[in-house]
Amino acid sequence: MLEIQNLRVNYGTFTALHDVTLSVNPGEIVVLLGANGAGKSTLFRTLSGLQRPAGGAARWNGTSLTGGRPEFNVAHGVAQCPEGRLLFPDLSVEKNLRLGAYVHRRDPAGTARELARVMDLFPILVEKRHDPAGSLSGGQQQMVAIARALMARPSLLLLDEPSLGLAPLVVEQVFQTVQRVNEAGVSVLLAEQNAFAALGIAHRGYVLESGRISLQGTSAELMTDDRVRSAYLGV
Ligand code: ATP
Repeated sequence: MLEIQNLRVNYGTFTALHDVTLSVNPGEIVVLLGANGAGKSTLFRTLSGLQRPAGGAARWNGTSLTGGRPEFNVAHGVAQCPEGRLLFPDLSVEKNLRLGAYVHRRDPAGTARELARVMDLFPILVEKRHDPAGSLSGGQQQMVAIARALMARPSLLLLDEPSLGLAPLVVEQVFQTVQRVNEAGVSVLLAEQNAFAALGIAHRGYVLESGRISLQGTSAELMTDDRVRSAYLGV
């Protein structure tokens, strides 16, 4: 499981995360709701080993993630799908996916196996595999970004704002694929502003406000919470 205890992250004198404590149990989809600037990306960067915390702990299945070595975190099962997708638009879909096979880079058979596995999860990518990633629709590009993260065969997927810039129907399709990924055995921590879609697939959630966890509960509890409804569901 993912155990985050009293995690504190500073940028100079500015504290972006204040003693954040949260967990993701094996097999769960947990959503982290928060407005722009709440600290979601900071948390993900820290869990990926890209940002060193000033205090606290983060462990995945007992292994510390805060040593500041992103490749170590990937090798121990934690992969991030970053906000904004960050694909290489001129490279083919398949080449983008192969770049995610970081931990298998000296193992062509392993890479081929993972490629077949993610193509199975994302059938749309089979017919697009030789097309430049930049020629795909927004929703398809988001699927490439998720599939690329899965190429590292993570047991925990950190998914940062996958619905960004997508039409509601496409958001639904992307979230259905997240659910399929989860059903295939991957735990998911999902940062989102689109609370309605995210709570629809998540088991539990937390609300992050100005770097602090202000609320937590099951998806059903959050969906009916007045504060969540007015701040994130627009009702
Ligand atoms: P968004 O969805 O816009 O990315 P977020 O919830 O992911 O928002 P973060 O990007 O984690 O928020 O930012 C949290 C806070 O830390 C913000 O106030 C932001 O201005 C600040 N911040 C982020 N990166 C840095 C940095 N490199 N230096 C200084 N402050 C930063």
